[in-house]
Amino acid sequence: MDHFNKTLEKHGLELTRLETSILQINVGLLCNQECRHCHLDAGPGRRENMDLKTADHIISYAEKCGFNTIDITGGAPELNPNLEYLVKALSKTAPKIMVRSNLSVLNKNKRERLIELMTKNRVAIVASFPSLDESQTNAQRGEGIFQASLDALHKLNDMGYGQPDSGLELNLVSNPTGAFLPPSQEQSEKRFRDVLQRKSGIVFNHLYSFANVPLGRFREWLVASGNFDAYMEKLAKAFNPCAIDGVMCRTLVSVSWDGYLYACDFNLAAGIPLGGKKKVHVSDMQGMPGKLEPGLPIATADHCYTCTAGSGFT
Ligand code: SF4
Repeated sequence: MDHFNKTLEKHGLELTRLETSILQINVGLLCNQECRHCHLDAGPGRRENMDLKTADHIISYAEKCGFNTIDITGGAPELNPNLEYLVKALSKTAPKIMVRSNLSVLNKNKRERLIELMTKNRVAIVASFPSLDESQTNAQRGEGIFQASLDALHKLNDMGYGQPDSGLELNLVSNPTGAFLPPSQEQSEKRFRDVLQRKSGIVFNHLYSFANVPLGRFREWLVASGNFDAYMEKLAKAFNPCAIDGVMCRTLVSVSWDGYLYACDFNLAAGIPLGGKKKVHVSDMQGMPGKLEPGLPIATADHCYTCTAGSGFT
């Protein structure tokens, strides 16, 4: 299998930045779940969690730059004590705020106030819902997670999320429960919509299906189960040159819980800093220019094959 850069060269392609419009904020690796496919190795035992000082640096950076979209992820962002503060402040800096949720955490410890805040600020929720099969989901995400996810989806639907014309966006994210590539997003969206409506009366706006990224706990599982080489071959064989145009790193900058910049959450997990060289802290960034100039090359590695497999990862 050729290195990712070699494959780009073979196709006369180069991965470079376009205009940056999305700020992705990883508030930490603390999570109530320990999913088998997690590229960040997040879990209940992780201590990495964004503090108020870093949150303030990021808010002033967002105020300076004026992003179109701010995408808050983790771990489980709901477990960060500064999430409400971030949502309130960032809602004034960008037209769209998204929070990525594993759903089960929304059933814990009175999350109603947070959900009300997100509803009030029209925060879009991007919820992990890998499979319609209970045993597959629980095998990947933990015992009872399938039912906990349905309970949380019901709660969100009751608050208007995913309902037609409510303006409260609820999107689902599906990923394979093993070392194989996902079926077409269109097919999956149709099937999930039919089955969730029919069996549980649950509605949502869009479904996005992604391949699992061979990093973190998923990489460990691939290696331990002897699937690593075959999975990398599968990703490389599915390389789609057209997918390069839409990969997220071209228009996104990712900032970690301790304030360092990356091209995306996967490069963050792989420890590849923005630009591939010296780590840059958000407090050193005076607005947009400099490290985010359109045309600058993006540091890549073999996990990037995940983003260019089939219809790609956008
Ligand atoms: S893994 Fe990150 S850097 Fe690599 S192609 Fe995907 S989005 Fe870009």
